Amino acid sequence: MREVKHFIGGEFVDSIDGKTFDSITPIDNTILATVAEGGAADIDRAAKAARKGFAVWSKMSPADRRTILERVAEGIESRIDELAEWETRDMGKPITAARSHDMRRAAHNFRFFAEHAEHAGTRSWDKPWDGIFTYELREPLGVVGSISPWNYPLMLLTWKAAPALAFGCTVSAKPAEQSPITASILAEICAEAEMPPGVFNVVNGFGPDSAGEALTAHDDVDAITFTGESNTGRAIMAKASKTLKKLSFEMGGKSANIVMADCDLDAAVEGALRGVFTNQGEVCLAGTRLLVQRPIYEDFLARLVEGAESWTVGNPLDESTKMGPLVSAEHMDKVLSYIDLAVDEGAKLLTGGERLTDGELAVGNYVAPTIFSDADNSMRVCQEEIFGPVELVMPFDTVDEAIEIANQSRYGLAGMVWTQNLDTAHRVAREVKTGTMWVNCFFVRDLRAPFGGYKDSGMGREGGDYSYDFFTEAKAVVMKFPD
Ligand code: NAD
Repeated sequence: MREVKHFIGGEFVDSIDGKTFDSITPIDNTILATVAEGGAADIDRAAKAARKGFAVWSKMSPADRRTILERVAEGIESRIDELAEWETRDMGKPITAARSHDMRRAAHNFRFFAEHAEHAGTRSWDKPWDGIFTYELREPLGVVGSISPWNYPLMLLTWKAAPALAFGCTVSAKPAEQSPITASILAEICAEAEMPPGVFNVVNGFGPDSAGEALTAHDDVDAITFTGESNTGRAIMAKASKTLKKLSFEMGGKSANIVMADCDLDAAVEGALRGVFTNQGEVCLAGTRLLVQRPIYEDFLARLVEGAESWTVGNPLDESTKMGPLVSAEHMDKVLSYIDLAVDEGAKLLTGGERLTDGELAVGNYVAPTIFSDADNSMRVCQEEIFGPVELVMPFDTVDEAIEIANQSRYGLAGMVWTQNLDTAHRVAREVKTGTMWVNCFFVRDLRAPFGGYKDSGMGREGGDYSYDFFTEAKAVVMKFPD
């Protein structure tokens, strides 16, 4: 069994009150690690360490910070197999995906932002007719609290920590309680990379009345960058209001995947399957509302069912597995209750819809890839985030109707459209209220582009210059020249 401590001021430490909790693997629901359970006192200690670290780190040149952050990227790359295995054991994602996608992206997050920060510039505004020259200064924002979810633990932690560090902030991270292990390995890597003490800190624990809430309330934390559920975002915003922290939120989704009759059918089917079953459906960006134009509806459903039934579910450490267990027994029960609800609400179950218990699966949290047809967008299952391998398919006739259905949601995180018609692609991209729209592809990211959500899916944007804006303060220096 692994022991996971906090990482504060460059040292691995226990909680001040000595409390711990167990981290359970979803593969067989046994204890994987004992984890230090932080509270307000530990957060205070981390905030003080981060403030001290800030005095050093914020004064270093971006080039010197880049050298250290690139060593962190190399450290991740050199431990990819180890990191991927712990991530898989901790939260259930297929090891092949952890290795080839998540860990590589984690390293890339550091490389990308280290370089981006070194080249980031400022603007100036010249008014010679008034003898006034104004230029912009950028200064690191300060101490940043980073609160992350369990579905892409290291990838999403580094998506926030890497830019914060690159732009000169220091970080106190609170990983999700379900999947704390890789954050602690990242702390080891940062220490090995000779990052100064206090620059990157990790405090483990829960959300409400625990480390998460204490971080959002601490008066010497300047900002919170958060990824997680929309209701958690609301709670964080309420707590953070007392100290008027700067906030950036990436939250839930219920994205529409629009398939036009003129699409490349093979690509659209493959995209729809990946769009809902990747990472056990535990993906904020998942295309969980699948809108298929009526002329191809029946054919599309048949192909979808065939694809779902051949989607390999199994032990995520097995190289052939495409879908592992859901993160916890509690989460599996929630997903299964939504499957029951879909039946009650009148959607038609085409495949899946049950827990899988064959052989070794019996001790884990496995749910079959599930497809419902004939759903109606007003159903609760079409409005609420299930966060599991459950697709709700509905037919439509016109592109206007598809856009209207897509927008009938309190979420607005992502969307997809599959079509060969450029006008349709542009219209859908323009009219669906969502942070990212993929045309004939899914899950592709350019880290320079804005990432975030409309409506309940987010507040603010990160990525490239958007992260630069969030993690720095902009100052105007106004100079008067003699006439
Ligand atoms: P969650 O909101 O339950 O927890 C996320 C983090 O917030 C955890 O570290 C948790 O401990 C902490 N937390 C919980 N309550 C808190 C509180 N009151 N104060 C401070 N911290 C608190 O989310 P989750 O279940 O871990 O993750 C799934 C959710 O995350 C889904 O809604 C998913 O859509 C969303 N998500 C969004 C994105 C995105 O980029 N938009 C990416 C991944 C996941």
